[in-house]
Amino acid sequence: MAGAVPGTLAEVREQFGVWLHENTERLQELCAPGKDVTATFTAQGELQRLLFESGWIRLGWPEEVGGLGGEMILRAVVVEELCAAGYPPPFSFGTQEVLGPAVARYAPRELALELMPRLLRGEEYWCQGFSEPGAGSDLASLQCRMVADGDDWVLSGEKVWTSWAQVADRCVLLARTGAKDSGFRGITAVMLDMDTPGIDLRPLTSMNGDAEFCSLYLDDVRVPRSRTLGEVDGGWAIAMTILASERGAAAWQRQTWMRCRLQDLLRQAPGLPASVAGEAFELIHSLRLLSRRTVHALSRGEDIGATPSFDKLLMSTAEKFLFATALEYLGPTLLLESGPDADAWRNDYLYSRASSIYGGAAEIQRDIIAGRILRLPRER
Ligand SMILES: Cc1cc2nc3c(=O)[nH]c(=O)nc-3n(C[C@H](O)[C@H](O)[C@H](O)COP(=O)(O)OP(=O)(O)OC[C@H]3O[C@@H](n4cnc5c(N)ncnc54)[C@H](O)[C@@H]3O)c2cc1C
Repeated sequence: MAGAVPGTLAEVREQFGVWLHENTERLQELCAPGKDVTATFTAQGELQRLLFESGWIRLGWPEEVGGLGGEMILRAVVVEELCAAGYPPPFSFGTQEVLGPAVARYAPRELALELMPRLLRGEEYWCQGFSEPGAGSDLASLQCRMVADGDDWVLSGEKVWTSWAQVADRCVLLARTGAKDSGFRGITAVMLDMDTPGIDLRPLTSMNGDAEFCSLYLDDVRVPRSRTLGEVDGGWAIAMTILASERGAAAWQRQTWMRCRLQDLLRQAPGLPASVAGEAFELIHSLRLLSRRTVHALSRGEDIGATPSFDKLLMSTAEKFLFATALEYLGPTLLLESGPDADAWRNDYLYSRASSIYGGAAEIQRDIIAGRILRLPRER
């Protein structure tokens, strides 16, 4: 970023466009698909460092945690322009937007000042330890136990579906500190270092072939109590902040990427009827408009309550429609061929099936919309 920090969306678009053009070669190198998980995350860390050093990824974060100040919407534009130029947003951007705001808000000040700059600089990666074998949709029933012992917490239990835990330096983890049946009132959030003794991590391979998920077996894992996020037994508020970011801000990144994939589909599938392409465009554009409102509200620091459930539901509807269309009109490529294009379509189709599960399943989003937003009566 040369000169003054851009303060308006138009200035970000213009100056970032120039920067993208000047850094094309380096960006192409860093955005090329890695040969394995480690290579991919190394390249993403470097991309993030490049964007941090040039200032772009620091927009909208408070100066005390390494940002440049201003509103969060400024960096939402950076992601959009990055995608429009053909570079997919790295996973690390997702983590930053999902976990970063909650840690910046709820971590003790010293901890936030220590960890946030490392996250933004791409020096470390964080994962999200919420789900358990018996607690996914019903997150409030989680049973991973955490008891106080002197200056430490001692953690025991099991987490599952923890994305990219094998490359993570830290985990934002929810554990039960109240009575077994205390529901959402007895949960506390902590920041766990992933190299702490007592963590047995086992990768799980998903249907696209990536070992994205991990099971975490925690056996008397000690976490300093100074790593508590927010209040003891007040972890539900942090979980809700994180899920609002995951359903809201992450949908913004996803729609920018889907717009690029629709362009790819139009180029590669000449037989695609205009009506089907139009429907895909309508869904993605509706998501953009909805998500734009959410990002503006988050940017103004508003409490957006349960409304990102709409974004999440529309996101998974659009994503599934787009890649089901790809399967129909690029069938032989997607099913039978190999090479970067075919692999990417196959991966995106398979991953679209997960879009109505992660961050809260589609049925749960409908339930939240019906109960908490529309206040519809429950069936007897
Ligand atoms: C790609 C991916 C990445 C993930 N990453 C993470 C991660 O990093 N960290 C993490 O903690 N978790 C992660 N998850 C887990 C995810 O949050 C859970 O899978 C999700 O919340 C659903 O929980 P579950 O798998 O236990 O399914 P269940 O809760 O057992 O649900 C099974 C089915 O029953 C339906 N159902 C359940 N309850 C109800 C109800 N009351 N009314 C109607 N229908 C209902 C659900 O909608 C679903 O279709 C990830 C999942 C995926 C797919």
